Amino acid sequence: MRVAGFGADGPVEGGPEIVRENPARHGEVVATLLTTDADGVGRVISGATQACAAWASTPLAERVERLRDGARSVADAADELAPLLARELGKPVADSAGEMGFAAAFLGWVCDRVGEVCADRVVDDDAGRVVLQRVPYGVISAIVPWNAPLILSSLKVAPALATGNVIVVKPSPLAPFAVTEALRRLAEHLPPGVLSVVHGEAEVGNAMVTDSRVRKVAFTGGSTVARQVLAGCAEQLTPAVLELGGNDPAVVLDDLTFSDEVMERMVFGALLTSGQVCMAAKRIYVPAARLDEFVEAFVAAAERVLVCGDPLDPAVTIGPVVNAAAVQRIEGLLGDARSRGATILPLGRTTPDWDRGTGWFVRPTLVVGASADSTIVGEEQFGPTVPVLGYRDLDDAVCQANATESGLGSSVWSDDAERAFDVGRRLEAGMTFINCHNRAGMSLRVPFGGVKRSGFGREFGDEGIAEFTQTHALHLPAAFRGAGGSGQAANAYPT
Ligand code: NAD
Repeated sequence: MRVAGFGADGPVEGGPEIVRENPARHGEVVATLLTTDADGVGRVISGATQACAAWASTPLAERVERLRDGARSVADAADELAPLLARELGKPVADSAGEMGFAAAFLGWVCDRVGEVCADRVVDDDAGRVVLQRVPYGVISAIVPWNAPLILSSLKVAPALATGNVIVVKPSPLAPFAVTEALRRLAEHLPPGVLSVVHGEAEVGNAMVTDSRVRKVAFTGGSTVARQVLAGCAEQLTPAVLELGGNDPAVVLDDLTFSDEVMERMVFGALLTSGQVCMAAKRIYVPAARLDEFVEAFVAAAERVLVCGDPLDPAVTIGPVVNAAAVQRIEGLLGDARSRGATILPLGRTTPDWDRGTGWFVRPTLVVGASADSTIVGEEQFGPTVPVLGYRDLDDAVCQANATESGLGSSVWSDDAERAFDVGRRLEAGMTFINCHNRAGMSLRVPFGGVKRSGFGREFGDEGIAEFTQTHALHLPAAFRGAGGSGQAANAYPT
């Protein structure tokens, strides 16, 4: 299979070809990506620019109807595309199908909410008449990573299009195929140029960011690339929304019952998608007095629910990591922790006769006794391993949890929800989950995004829709309502 991007005039290519192999099976080619050359990016943005005005002035009801039809097409494609996503990314096939379902559901939810979010806000009183209108930006460039390509694209595509923008999406070359096909199905319901896809590495991303016709950049990825993206935005003074990495703490309060169900939720909160999730629990803080009990319960829960193997096997919950570089990086973090005295406990099991050597597999692990200065505590591991650390009292727990430049997600776990909310208020994060973490705590209506170095702007929720609009204020001061003079001095300050 050979996959290219598409714009208003059809397929776009011209750049180097990239062959993607199945990370679960060395040497098995999934498909070939036909990347876009710089001219191609320019042509796609031209097509988007030409489509812009007509789409922005299309009545909201028609935009919504087209997007709902598109959402149905994406949902209908889930069974067909889930195995492709599983093979290119290594994400278990049930999770891959869930990702397709999420994209369709999110499109539908945005269609439900966009009318209210974008409605004019009018104040008409003794001081005058103010109309706050929400208007689209124009052409949006969306750049997404590989770990959840369709979810992360739909978080941009759905609100951008519903609010009247047009959008060009660049997936990661590490997982480009299923998302391109899903977006193609959506684009079939839209006028040409409204939704386009380009492919490539940094050069293509940079061309999307620095083009003067682009009015906003929506980027999800790591902080290194984010700095390059922001530098590109600075050239044109283009605004950006950045969704970056996290080093999420999960704070377990001393009253939490370590039931099977709670512990299984925590295991998945840390290790779903082999830990390659921005909002995964990446450090677990437990009262020092209950550390041994916690470790025993966590290992037992992992044994029940973590099954490593081929992502196409429906029994598998843990697939490979994305590539060789990820294996090397994660092993480096584990080596550093081990050298500083940590104990590394293997987690879960494999499907019968499964040979980890067939792909880029990393055995899930729990890291016990890591020092605070070890890299596995200080850095986002983005792999199937998580450190558990003891704390003395709540002040110590909050201090350790906040001792990071990241501020994406976090969680507090307690049998007493009120206590959990109180502690949650003290965490420096864009999102604090209570008694869950990661996917179990995701909600279409709850805004998600980072503080500190985890980015700015929000996705999900009404805020995530408003992110793709700007406010246009219209104002008639009361003194100038009528045709006649008001007596107010022409150069008066407002009162
Ligand atoms: P990455 O930053 O390496 O790449 C992200 C995207 O940027 C890819 O499409 C890549 O091709 C593109 N890119 C690379 N160089 C570029 C350049 N110079 N200009 C423009 N685009 C360029 O990230 P990744 O490795 O694909 O993803 C992992 C990171 O993403 C992790 O840090 C993870 O936490 C983060 N992430 C964040 C969220 C969130 O919502 N906050 C969600 C998922 C992943």
